[in-house]
Amino acid sequence: MYPILIVEDEPSMQMGLKDNLEFEGYQVDLADDGEVALEKILENKYSLVLLDVMLPKLSGFDICKMARKKGIVTPIILLTARGEEIDKVLGLEFGADDYITKPFSLRELLARIRAVLRRSPNMEQVTKEEKVQIGNLAINFTSFEGFVNGDEAKMSHKEVEILNYLWENKNHIVSRDDLLDKIWGTEYQPTSRTIDNFILKLRQKIEVDSNHAKIILTVHGVGYRLVV
Ligand code: CA
Repeated sequence: MYPILIVEDEPSMQMGLKDNLEFEGYQVDLADDGEVALEKILENKYSLVLLDVMLPKLSGFDICKMARKKGIVTPIILLTARGEEIDKVLGLEFGADDYITKPFSLRELLARIRAVLRRSPNMEQVTKEEKVQIGNLAINFTSFEGFVNGDEAKMSHKEVEILNYLWENKNHIVSRDDLLDKIWGTEYQPTSRTIDNFILKLRQKIEVDSNHAKIILTVHGVGYRLVV
């Protein structure tokens, strides 16, 4: 995955975003004026740009317009100020994918980021080539291949799908109901015990000691949380 570019001229806001996104496991790059931002967007690959509207030298709108004109398809989320309804309309017209109004909660921002990344065709291509390391397990979510310490690990499709879902929501609680919905959908619905068995199999591949899980944690009465 490529880094997320944060374009924000207010230092405390910029640092807050950087710290929080890094904590969530994203790599970040920074720009604090419009010209530098446009240059970076044209020259580097990013999986997403968080773009403040009011910036020195070039506005977020200008950057958006120019980047799209040059054929840059990187998803852009505009950071707009409260009450500037016009910003939202203009931003989307200039090619932004979404906007979020300041002040926003971290939770809201992360939800928007995940949604935009999920929709992005770019991202899919990137993740397709990637193997992800989760504890002892190296996993390719597209080819469904897993390796434990270099040896191929036998994994069922459902195991990989469950792990993929936990990974996409890493550091957040995933309820058993969520898993039932997302993984089994309208198919035959397994019992909680079946889900627990899948989790056990995953833990045996991922954890150093599957009886004392440190990565796929049980949240009692709710579900699971994958911690990285
Ligand atoms: Ca600003």
